[in-house]
Amino acid sequence: MPICPAILNHPTIEYLMAYRIMDQFKAQRGFITYDFEKLSDQVMKNITDQTTLLSQLHKLSIASTEVFPNQDKSYELVKRCYTLFDELSENYQEQLDRYELPSNSSFVHLWLAQTFESVEEIYQCMKYEDNALHSDSKSNENTNSVGGINAISFDKCVKVLGWNSSRFDIALLWDALDCELWTMGVPIGSLNYTKSITVTHKKSHMKLQFIDAENLFGPMTLKACVKDYGDKTEHTDVFPYEIINSNNWKEVLMKTEPFEYEDFKSQLKGGYSITKDEYDQYLIDFKRFTNRLDYLKYYNINDTEIMVKPLMNLIDTFEQFNIDVLHYISIASCAYATIRYSTYFPSKFNLESDKQSYYEDFDINADYSNPNPDAKPFELTVGYWKNKCYHYKQQDYKAGRETDKNVTADDNDYYKQLFETSVCSICSAKFTYDNLPSLDRQDNELSHTKANCLPACVSCNISHANRDPKITSLHIKMRQYAIKHNLPMTISDERIYKLLRECITGGLAAVFHRENIAGKTHINELTYDEQSNNLISQDNENVTTHVFALDGNSLYPSSYSSVKNENIPYTDHRMYMAGRSKFYSEKPYIIKNCIDQRKEIFVAKVKDYFSKSEYNNLLALPPIFRNIEIENKEEMIGEYMFSQAQKHSLPMLKKDRKLSTLLDTNGQFMIFNNYYLWLLIDLGIVITDYKAIAVFEKNAADEPFVRTMMNLRIQAILAGSTKEKFHKLIIN
Ligand SMILES: [Zn+2]
Repeated sequence: MPICPAILNHPTIEYLMAYRIMDQFKAQRGFITYDFEKLSDQVMKNITDQTTLLSQLHKLSIASTEVFPNQDKSYELVKRCYTLFDELSENYQEQLDRYELPSNSSFVHLWLAQTFESVEEIYQCMKYEDNALHSDSKSNENTNSVGGINAISFDKCVKVLGWNSSRFDIALLWDALDCELWTMGVPIGSLNYTKSITVTHKKSHMKLQFIDAENLFGPMTLKACVKDYGDKTEHTDVFPYEIINSNNWKEVLMKTEPFEYEDFKSQLKGGYSITKDEYDQYLIDFKRFTNRLDYLKYYNINDTEIMVKPLMNLIDTFEQFNIDVLHYISIASCAYATIRYSTYFPSKFNLESDKQSYYEDFDINADYSNPNPDAKPFELTVGYWKNKCYHYKQQDYKAGRETDKNVTADDNDYYKQLFETSVCSICSAKFTYDNLPSLDRQDNELSHTKANCLPACVSCNISHANRDPKITSLHIKMRQYAIKHNLPMTISDERIYKLLRECITGGLAAVFHRENIAGKTHINELTYDEQSNNLISQDNENVTTHVFALDGNSLYPSSYSSVKNENIPYTDHRMYMAGRSKFYSEKPYIIKNCIDQRKEIFVAKVKDYFSKSEYNNLLALPPIFRNIEIENKEEMIGEYMFSQAQKHSLPMLKKDRKLSTLLDTNGQFMIFNNYYLWLLIDLGIVITDYKAIAVFEKNAADEPFVRTMMNLRIQAILAGSTKEKFHKLIIN
């Protein structure tokens, strides 16, 4: 399968693409932001010897801003706030009754019930007008969920965003998310960090998906986000959280005079949480309110309203590339979807003034059959056919179909010729070893008989099953396009998956020479004495003036962009990115050949070493960076470190995983990609043993995306625009 989550994991875009109506695309602009205000009770309770519970948070109020999008890019806001005081009001029971809520429901239940009512309206604002697109479409309320052919599938789901909600607010919501009227789905993430949770209304089937807005911007405070991504800077409001607790809230919040400056003293911050100037501003603001509760509501709502503008700006930024931000739960997954999408539509991302020409955009009307002209034509063998017949018979038998007239091993010659001379009945591709044939049953009630089957690619046959024919055709064309341009595709060979999985590791950062004082510290040098087999560490006469940081992050745009650079000595001065897998081998001569020829890009598992005569050239930066297990034995970490650790009874596990810089593969097989291995070979490494290799097609498909984003960012910096942050966010 091709990899393009922006289309293939987004049913609405997939539909619009398949029906050639992408001009109708609009990003989701309706959403809700919410925030809690809390009561904090100082408890100071010892839970265990080591753990003391400082304070407990209780819900005081919840506020939300509902965004109703108009047909143009404008929108209407509706702001709401529910507090503990609602539960005391005379008509509380009446309010609960209106939503058919049980009598013990909290004000959070009430908020959720109201929110479910609002999202139905928001959904109506966002969904596509079916009738405007298809005159033949039947009006059917539920078509989106059953995937009716003529209705644009559009999930009945509205996003509810809180700032840093995955840690705090979700925990406060938790007990209200399951009740008689609605039910909670399985959360994504952990209990302490819930990335996303969906709540479905049992009657209307509307869904609320709670996500953390902070994940869409990266770690920062809400204030910083509004400053960086919003348009205007407004003065921030203040509220003395710490003096309100579950004993005094009724009394404290009903007072009509403003809080005292003393009330803003914060234990958590060890001083006043606001300055005197901010307090004076607060006094002015407070004049507009009848009491502290009214001010609290205003304050609570304001925190949700200020999230709207940055989110709208984010939605706009991505919408120009046909990306629907609110479909994603983090900026990382959104950026990944964007870059994969860019490889199908390079011209959409090629906004440079000096337009370079890249390959053509994906066009669903184009003919991409036989995308790989070099593929070897398929030749049916007796064994392959026998196996196929056996599986077809099993399939039919399990489905309760008559198998008497099924194709048999005797039909081998007939099908051998058929597969050689005919093409796929669905996509008209020739059958090759890249594109294996199968039999596609025409009448689903009948079995695999000669009369009921036409030849079809295995991949077409799979995507053909029980689907809208236009969507099937989209999948097939995208697959052919991906093959034509060597774009990445899902890995189907388990051996390749395992090889790649082994390479994935975190914590790749190392600091050499931790302390250096400019003008003071002498430069430390390592030398190797071959005769005594000792490493000597000594300071030389040169004094440190600058620090050098080496950033080898392969996720950085300079490495994945595949932009030509004369300093890259390999593969046309470009670092190509991997497309679909070509083959896997464990034959040493094949592995050696691929490494030596320097044409294919690959990942290889080998053992290698640098000879001792090279050590002194390489010790400043030993070039094999690996996380390896190091035993904390005296002979490993040295007498000094070992005795220090014992003296201070430091916790010493038997083994530690540490990022190390090595001069050989430590007697183990290690995995390198082609560029890394070629660099090591050019530095003089000797390969002693070959274990496995996975070879990939190569592409430079990320170039338009990286170039464009870089240029947009530079332009934004020069213009002093806040958009700069968006582009930085996307590229990283
Ligand atoms: Zn086909």
